[in-house]
Amino acid sequence: MKSGGGRPPRDPVDPEPAVHEMVCEAETPDEMLFVCTDSACGRKVVLGKSVPGLTAVVRGDFSARHIGSHGGPAFGDVTIA
Ligand SMILES: [Zn+2]
Repeated sequence: MKSGGGRPPRDPVDPEPAVHEMVCEAETPDEMLFVCTDSACGRKVVLGKSVPGLTAVVRGDFSARHIGSHGGPAFGDVTIA
């Protein structure tokens, strides 16, 4: 009879979502590229300036809240490319 080796308990989903800060990595007159500073996440979004809108290039950690680094736009409502 085997004993031990039970399944490791899975952490339930953290009730408090992590907050990741996004910084502007590149900018053109029309668009800004924001990347998440959390290396395990790696979310990238393109923020349109001439045509307002957010497009997620890399979805990253979908459960985390993403905020702009300088009181910029919230990154909650994005379009997945
Ligand atoms: Zn992130």
